[in-house]
Amino acid sequence: MTKTFTTICCISCSKVLDNLNYEGQDGKAIEVHPMNGLHFRTYGHYGSTIFDPMGTGETLDVAICDDCIMENLDKVRGSGKIGLS
Ligand SMILES: [Zn+2]
Repeated sequence: MTKTFTTICCISCSKVLDNLNYEGQDGKAIEVHPMNGLHFRTYGHYGSTIFDPMGTGETLDVAICDDCIMENLDKVRGSGKIGLS
């Protein structure tokens, strides 16, 4: 498996993060895998006024740095939040 380093900016603070590109176990390209950050993907949904592709498979991917997550922990939801402090 070939891994290539690129960069991606945090969507919140614009910090440049190292990013891995590689082929996943299912053969699909992984284009967003930030270091010192998290990756979020959406397929769109009803309710968005900008992105609701209705099952076409199109996605949007964003990275958020770990610092921005921790600085905004009061806005984070999910069972994994319990271990963060
Ligand atoms: Zn950030």
